[in-house]
Amino acid sequence: CTIDKGEVINPTCDVTFDEINEINGKIRKDLVSLVHTDFFKYFRLHLYKQCPFWNQNNGFCVNRACAVDVVEDWDSLPEYWQPEVLGGLQENETISDEESVKEDCKFLDDLCANNKKQRMIEPDIEYCDINDLHGEGSVLVDLTANPERFTGYGGQESSQIWSSIYGENCFSQGETGQSLAKDAFYRLVSGLHASIGTHLSNDHLNTETGKWGPDLDLFMARVGNFPDRVSNMYFNYAVVSKALWKIKPYLDHLKFCDSYDPSVKATIMNILSQLDSKVFNENLIFEGELSSKLKDDFRIRFKNVTQIMDCVHCDRCRMWGKVQTTGYATSLKILFELDESNENSKQHVVDKLTKYELIALFNTFDRLSKSIESVNNFEKMYNVRLEGG
Ligand code: FAD
Repeated sequence: CTIDKGEVINPTCDVTFDEINEINGKIRKDLVSLVHTDFFKYFRLHLYKQCPFWNQNNGFCVNRACAVDVVEDWDSLPEYWQPEVLGGLQENETISDEESVKEDCKFLDDLCANNKKQRMIEPDIEYCDINDLHGEGSVLVDLTANPERFTGYGGQESSQIWSSIYGENCFSQGETGQSLAKDAFYRLVSGLHASIGTHLSNDHLNTETGKWGPDLDLFMARVGNFPDRVSNMYFNYAVVSKALWKIKPYLDHLKFCDSYDPSVKATIMNILSQLDSKVFNENLIFEGELSSKLKDDFRIRFKNVTQIMDCVHCDRCRMWGKVQTTGYATSLKILFELDESNENSKQHVVDKLTKYELIALFNTFDRLSKSIESVNNFEKMYNVRLEGG
């Protein structure tokens, strides 16, 4: 790959590939342990929604690798998450038997929920439908039990999804500042695509040996031979890490089930304190007179990308697609919708992040972090091969 690792990633990121590798090396261990904690590993989502854009009856992924293991055995959850224990947690509130029968895992929405009482949605600042993540019809999944890896999903079905996602990057003509916004949108999508390609190459099933492991040729064909794709993954890392850097001063009110496990917040702080603000300059993206219209357009188009996830035919791919597009949507909200001149409003937006947005945000960062680690491992494998090792 012909990337100069001492170069900055693009005009909006005043950081080099090497610097990102270095940051990633410092936080990787903490991030892995964070996404394995009870708060961050259980995600709720509507996994089986009708595709809103076209009839997706064709194309099913029937491989075992495409499936998602949903949590149905409540006894497997941590003891302090059991409904009877939680029944005693809420002041002035109880979960009636009737309710708990009707909706088995509803209590999990309330557990360590941030701002449970004021779930007023402000539609004009959302980059995804946050209602999509909880409520009736949603399922509970343990993300760590359903790793993102090769599933065999492909062919015309997945191509159709990718081309409709790229098709969203079609902004109205003649807007000032359009090109940076358009470029950022494309990079976000391509970086997500490259990150998925990296995971499926890194955790690939060798059908001859039956073993899972990295496949260098596949990685090169999907990602490694395209420096722009690698660069877009680093761009996404910069975007998400800047969003995390930005919320650091406002995390005091947020709960991560840290009353049960105080190490969670300490781990988060360890990670965030390694991040750098210069990694991404969000203020450049929508500069210019018509910026607010352009930003709205950007937001609506990104929301469409999150909804296209309902059309993905492979359950496992759809689940990780939803987690990651929600993580990006949350990052974009933090980067573009905080009023810089008003501390209270910044605190207010952060206070209103739901637990599922937070889970998605940190898991998306972990996915990118894993991709960066894998890119570096693939580079080593490539060099060994070149040297004839
Ligand atoms: P595709 O990856 O389908 O790409 C289509 C075309 O897009 C390529 O021909 C190329 O021209 C262009 N392209 C490819 N990569 C990029 C990029 N980074 N930037 C710009 N353009 C690009 N498969 C799994 O095995 N595991 C998963 O977890 C998984 N998750 C998925 C999640 C989603 C939301 C989607 C839509 C697909 C997922 N897939 C997953 C399928 C996977 O992404 C590929 O679509 C599939 O492996 C077929 O790959 P392909 O080589 O035919 O090209």
